[in-house]
Amino acid sequence: MIEAEKTHSSEKQTALTRPRVVIIGGGFGGLYAARALGGASVSVTLIDKRNYHLFRPLLYQAATGLLSADEISGPLRSILSRQNNIDVLLGEVTGVDTQKRVVRLEQHDVSYDFLILATGVQYNYFGHDEWSRIAPSLVSLSDADRIRAKVLLAFEQAEELAALESARTTSIQKLLTFVLVGAGTVGVEMAATLAEMSRMALAHDFHHIDARSAQILLYETAPRVLPSYPETLSARAQRHLEHLGVKVCTSTSVTSIDADGIIANGQRVPAATVLWSAGVLASPAGRWINSATDKSGRIIVNSDLSVPDHPEIFAIGDTAHVVAHSRNLLGIKSKEPMLMPGVAQPAIQEGRYVARVIRCRVAGTKPPGPFCYLDKGDLAIVGRAYAVADLRLLRFSGFPAWLIWAVVHIYFLIGFANRFFVLVQWGLAFLTKRRRVRVLPE
Ligand SMILES: Cc1cc2nc3c(=O)[nH]c(=O)nc-3n(C[C@H](O)[C@H](O)[C@H](O)COP(=O)(O)OP(=O)(O)OC[C@H]3O[C@@H](n4cnc5c(N)ncnc54)[C@H](O)[C@@H]3O)c2cc1C
Repeated sequence: MIEAEKTHSSEKQTALTRPRVVIIGGGFGGLYAARALGGASVSVTLIDKRNYHLFRPLLYQAATGLLSADEISGPLRSILSRQNNIDVLLGEVTGVDTQKRVVRLEQHDVSYDFLILATGVQYNYFGHDEWSRIAPSLVSLSDADRIRAKVLLAFEQAEELAALESARTTSIQKLLTFVLVGAGTVGVEMAATLAEMSRMALAHDFHHIDARSAQILLYETAPRVLPSYPETLSARAQRHLEHLGVKVCTSTSVTSIDADGIIANGQRVPAATVLWSAGVLASPAGRWINSATDKSGRIIVNSDLSVPDHPEIFAIGDTAHVVAHSRNLLGIKSKEPMLMPGVAQPAIQEGRYVARVIRCRVAGTKPPGPFCYLDKGDLAIVGRAYAVADLRLLRFSGFPAWLIWAVVHIYFLIGFANRFFVLVQWGLAFLTKRRRVRVLPE
């Protein structure tokens, strides 16, 4: 007993004398940085305002009733429980005092020797924050719940209305019109899934409405969907969306959103459900440390991902403006550096890289060279058995791309149980074409 107490107090003493690394954000960047610092001679504190790590690429499946919240998320505390040098703290960071080297939370401060900012992004309503009340965006689990409830409720209300003899067709049609603003990966995923949901999962559940008559409208200001993909893949994705019954409106700006619907290119489109998947804005981390940011608010970092004039602070993932060389899967280095895209892979690789830099600094060894991105390509899913894949060396679409998408997403899901349950749910949904999570909150 006394021995155990002695060991515990000596562990505590060691923890107090080690350099303190504070990571803000337990998303892809922060979590992978923390994991890579497991066992290092540092004391790590990972702070997040949510107590879970969320696998965002599958969030649209939670928003459309295919998966449940706990299948695409995991408690940070339990994910990191085996790393003795890592503490997890639930709390919202409100600022950073770079002079005193403390992170400010609502109740108290946390001191650091090294700070990693990995706070991600929030949706940008381009100066129309009032639209967020009507047109929710998909960032968190509660957003997914809210969107799922909104969609299911629209079908329920349409059914109720249609049962009345005096019902006006226009009111029913408005309830059965679903508008998505923004045709990046999230908008495309959501549009395709809503189309399949109405044409398959809900098709036979209503007696007064035909769920298959639901209109799914996808608006995009750019001339094509998936604007960051090669044109051929954008065109294929659009064709598949149209095949699923989605009406795609490219080169069209949505200029107003209210309770009655939207105005696009000067035309009013009545719709009870509008979902926002248009631009993103970095978290306020750049303001906390008073550093230079780009026009999206991302912190401009050095080639080792540290913040200019603050070698002890690093910014990674969506909240950082990282310009770096990349290598493809054959190891060939790009001629020009490129701006890292706002997807999971750069965040993961940057998290691991920064952990290596910190380990070297603490050990007094030579730090790694500038951050270089291993570019594995991009994948976007368009419905339940179709995806587009840009693997840089190879571009293709259809079921083979979907298969790669599925394998990659299962591989990166955190936890064996989640992987297993998601596989089972996908299998069931594929065979039965049904959605499991259909219960409306009270
Ligand atoms: C709906 C959706 C679908 C996506 N699909 C894909 C996809 O298919 N493939 C892909 O590669 N990428 C996808 N992305 C993008 C990908 O999720 C992000 O690029 C990635 O999550 C960035 O990682 P990050 O660590 O920078 O930030 P995040 O993963 O966003 O993590 C940020 C963390 O910081 C925490 N945080 C923020 N502010 C504070 C604060 N003040 N105090 C404490 N904690 C805070 C948040 O709670 C969060 O846990 C998708 C994004 C969304 C929203």
